[in-house]
Amino acid sequence: MELKNLEVWFITGSQHLYGEAALQKIAANSRCVVEGLNASGRLPMRVVFKALVTTPQSILDVCREANASSRCAGLAFWMHTFSPAKMWIAGLTALQKPFVHLHTQFNRDLPWSTIDMDFMNLNQAAHGDREFGFICTRMRKPRKVIVGHWQDPEVLDRLAAWQRSAAGLQEIRSLKVARIGDNMRQVAVTEGDKVEAQMRLGVEVNGYGIGDVVRRIAEVSDADAESLAAEYGSLYALAPELRPGGNKLSALLCAARTELGLRHFLEEGGFKAFTDTFEDLHGLEQLPGVAVQRLMADGYGFGAEGDWKTAALGRVMKVMGEGLPGGTSFMEDYTYHLDAAAPLVLGAHMLEICPSLAAEKPSCEIHPLGIGGKADPVRLAFTAPAGPAVNVAVIDMGDRFRILVNEVDVVSPPQSLPKLPVARAFWRPRPDLKTAAACWIYAGGPHHTVLSQAVATEQIEDLAEMLGVECVKIDGRSATSETKNQLRWNEAYFMAR
Ligand code: MN
Repeated sequence: MELKNLEVWFITGSQHLYGEAALQKIAANSRCVVEGLNASGRLPMRVVFKALVTTPQSILDVCREANASSRCAGLAFWMHTFSPAKMWIAGLTALQKPFVHLHTQFNRDLPWSTIDMDFMNLNQAAHGDREFGFICTRMRKPRKVIVGHWQDPEVLDRLAAWQRSAAGLQEIRSLKVARIGDNMRQVAVTEGDKVEAQMRLGVEVNGYGIGDVVRRIAEVSDADAESLAAEYGSLYALAPELRPGGNKLSALLCAARTELGLRHFLEEGGFKAFTDTFEDLHGLEQLPGVAVQRLMADGYGFGAEGDWKTAALGRVMKVMGEGLPGGTSFMEDYTYHLDAAAPLVLGAHMLEICPSLAAEKPSCEIHPLGIGGKADPVRLAFTAPAGPAVNVAVIDMGDRFRILVNEVDVVSPPQSLPKLPVARAFWRPRPDLKTAAACWIYAGGPHHTVLSQAVATEQIEDLAEMLGVECVKIDGRSATSETKNQLRWNEAYFMAR
């Protein structure tokens, strides 16, 4: 998708007090750090040493240049020496890109036997970075502070997480969501303020009639539909009735035609996310199943029943997780196994779960839906593999957006489910189902989420920081009473802002 095309600009702060020779050494050390970061193999995005800045004007210039650069996803600041921070006010005021404050120093160890005052004067991040940190805090600048030696794998991993969030921010700032049909009637949590979303998050959400898609579907040639149906046959285990000569082959061709028409519609409009609703399917024979699933696997965000917030989040998390193992999908907390000894959530949807979550070859099946009054839809069925994951959601609190994250552990189903013909995942929420579900419900969390086995909590928190959006985390250490208090405090904080 995008990560390899983006850059982080590395800016080292200093001042003229130390003399030209010291500044040359600082620039050389900065280049060495940047080369080391890039050579680590742990960062998804390239770091570029952009400037050693020593004056207010040079700081302002590089911040303005960053604002104007479409390749620059964010900046990393490091004060190798002391850099009086009033020099940074104009630049930080102008800066519109996210930044990380890398609180590191060139040498890992104290050179015990040789350390002298020259060394002390050159390696001052321990106090220079505090001066920079003060002005960031004084100016209420959102940022991420990463502490440790630049070769420390943990430092690199925290920087990598932030880079992925910066890519997510870049994506949401230019994202267009096609809302095909309106909301599922009377549903509250999928509604929200689309004007505020565009102002605060950048995402543009616009409505389209289902007829716009129906027309694209009608334009698909028989040859193209047959060719795509054959591709389904090569990629998935086709149910017998969907194979050539089978009595439901026409339904498979209809599904393939739907995918092509929907894909053309999205490509023409530059949409990277979309919603539909089974209450507005006029002119479609089936609720789109395999079509939506395969579009998600290609990186599109999706939300069912008009859920544009989850669709946008899904696309952003696809970008953030690019290249990482594990899938990312639209998801719904569907039903529970409430055995007190081993409770589980069964996550699924009517059809639309992304096959990026599938560990094995999905089966392509056709079954009645029992809802929506349309022909039997074709869908991919599979079970998500065991492993850690996050369930993430965005809700509109009326005065602000809230992002919710629940860390979960996807598990293998303890028994087979021979009569359940949909893609699904089973998970144990952390810290436990009772606490997690209570916290989620107190926080106003929706039934729709994006489940990801690629994206981690830290990336979501970093993204929320960049967006200035509330982020509530439910993890292995959460307790219901503390989460309730956090929600109350957040309410006061965001009201006061
Ligand atoms: Mn739903």
